[in-house]
Amino acid sequence: MTTTGSACGQDNAVSHMDRGSSEMFQALARKEGTPLFVIDHAKIRENYREFKKNFPKIQAYFAVKANSNPGIVKTLMDLGASFDVASMPEFMIVHNFIKDMPDKERQDFIWDRIIYANTIKPIETLEELNQYKPLVTFDNIEELKKIRQHAPQAGLVLRLRVPNTGSMVELSSKFGADPGEAVDLIKAAFDLGLVVEGLSFHVGSQCTNFENYVVALQISANIIEETEHRTGRKIRILDIGGGFPVKYNPEVRSIEELAVKLKAEIARLFPDDMEILAEPGRFLVANACTLVAKVVGKAYRDGKPCYYINDGVYHTYSGQVFDHCTYPVLAFKEGPRQISAVFGPTCDAFDTITLSAELPELDIGDLVYSVNIGAYSIASSTYFNGFPPAKVFHINQ
Ligand SMILES: *Cc1c(COP(=O)(O)O)cnc(C)c1O
Repeated sequence: MTTTGSACGQDNAVSHMDRGSSEMFQALARKEGTPLFVIDHAKIRENYREFKKNFPKIQAYFAVKANSNPGIVKTLMDLGASFDVASMPEFMIVHNFIKDMPDKERQDFIWDRIIYANTIKPIETLEELNQYKPLVTFDNIEELKKIRQHAPQAGLVLRLRVPNTGSMVELSSKFGADPGEAVDLIKAAFDLGLVVEGLSFHVGSQCTNFENYVVALQISANIIEETEHRTGRKIRILDIGGGFPVKYNPEVRSIEELAVKLKAEIARLFPDDMEILAEPGRFLVANACTLVAKVVGKAYRDGKPCYYINDGVYHTYSGQVFDHCTYPVLAFKEGPRQISAVFGPTCDAFDTITLSAELPELDIGDLVYSVNIGAYSIASSTYFNGFPPAKVFHINQ
């Protein structure tokens, strides 16, 4: 598959597996059954360490929505990571790990380890969150009034609207206060007796246009300065969000390059004691997971081989719909390849993974796989048509 210019298109060269891995995945799938979603915890640890090596002073809050498997949360927690959650169930996945802590440590934990980064929270959620004195984001006055009434113990972070130009998944149409109204909103919060601790932004997911970060940092610096000037209050947290790009193909620029740029801008714009957080989601999990599925049907339509496999776009391949990703389907088998269609198992024609996979001749029962499928994949899998999500298997845990 040619993928030039697509930040999330993978090419077959990147997807190719060495012989040892190939045999390991096939053996696992034969033993555990398919579809099998394999999470490699060694890779997750490697990704976290790479993030910390590039951003040693930035605390990483893993965006749980990218892949909410509790095993992943545990692995990252043990490394010292923190978490960005967006719903009460996600909050509880993380909170579950601190049940046995003494009260004092518990409160430190909430602030140091969890940010509730959905700017829109139902009243019921606010009422439940209040007891934990959480750090939560907001971006509008109605939300501020809700927080004042239903979660007055929360600390606040104002989410700003920043350019998402060229990012694979845009977020700026749905979230973020306009920079022009930011200081008024911060002032309104203080007037209501709430405390704004920080600013946050998100440049869009799989951000390959690094200028987005530079512009967002500049906007944040201006707002912090104006806030101090107009209210006399200090903003001490800056949350630079997610968007850190995964090398789905060789054209994606490296995180090292981004880090050099970001660190220089941060040093130029903010005081040393500014607490900087980030919310990497995709970067920590995308390349850590592999899906193995099985050919369950085969037909020829207009002379083209059509393979039906037991996973599809309502399931692990959901990222092809919601995440604008493409996942090449590859065979473990060798042989001359021809253009083939690959369909998911449900009765909907929409459940089409690709009409142009390059595959060798496959038979019923043969295994196929997709790599780099750890982010926004199984997280949005459904039970449509009675087909459950893929079975999860952990390696190197
Ligand atoms: C989804 C999301 C993230 C993670 O984004 P990635 O592009 O996967 O790094 C971080 N922060 C917020 C608020 C999000 O909604």
